[in-house]
Amino acid sequence: MLRPKKSLGQNFLIDKNIINKIINLKNIKNRNILEIGPGCGSLTERILEKKPKSLTLIEKDYKLYEVLKKKYQNNNKVRLFNLDILKIDLEKIINVKSIIFGNLPYNISSQILVKLIKFKNWPPKFTDLVLMFQKEVAEKIAGTTFGRLSIITNYRLKLLNKFNVSPNCFYPKPKITSSVLHLSPIRKEIYKINNLDNLEMITNIFFSNKRKMIKKNFRKILGKKSIKNLNLNLRPADLKSEVYYKITELYEEK
Ligand code: SAH
Repeated sequence: MLRPKKSLGQNFLIDKNIINKIINLKNIKNRNILEIGPGCGSLTERILEKKPKSLTLIEKDYKLYEVLKKKYQNNNKVRLFNLDILKIDLEKIINVKSIIFGNLPYNISSQILVKLIKFKNWPPKFTDLVLMFQKEVAEKIAGTTFGRLSIITNYRLKLLNKFNVSPNCFYPKPKITSSVLHLSPIRKEIYKINNLDNLEMITNIFFSNKRKMIKKNFRKILGKKSIKNLNLNLRPADLKSEVYYKITELYEEK
């Protein structure tokens, strides 16, 4: 085995039960699959056993890419890219109705999720996301810890399933517990935000000071506009996600 690179967030899954549990969250047979960071292929192998229609792999590490290339060069279902997931036009590469799997590199996991949420075409070309995060980040996404990440996630994704994964299931063993989240896109958007960058910008402003009442920032963003029945003496975490969508809509109307 190659020596794992910390800089690329390489913690390889070695626990067969967990690998099965992940793979079995969704029926893979005859589906298009995309895997982010296949690494040594622990998920990849099992995905292929389930006979997908196609499997697209995106791996940044050239060494691992070479190993995967050798392994799968004669498999015409596999498309392999040696690319950085954050730098590519994923909407172009991805096949229709894909299921996306990934035991994500932890240092960029939320950036990867946000990239998926910001797909320009919605409903997107994926039907399911089955992704591994640090537990702490997973809680921010799922809303157990309410904040920027859950607000932007709630806008376009719903949580179908989650479970924790012990550090013992990886090599090398990470210091923290992990969580797998199974998410799926909400097909119809209820709010009409034109540019999700604005939702990000607005939640960034409010949550940069969680203890502060929202009044001042609300005025800064919306000037004289107002939202019926919204108490401006509340703190950012007291508002529901929907209020942030409404604020963003009003901001975009300017
Ligand atoms: N799926 C494998 C490996 C998980 S570790 C397993 O479960 O065992 C995370 C993987 O993501 C590593 O293979 C790492 O090289 C890869 N990776 C890290 N940064 C990446 C990026 N920006 N784009 C694509 N892959 C990346």
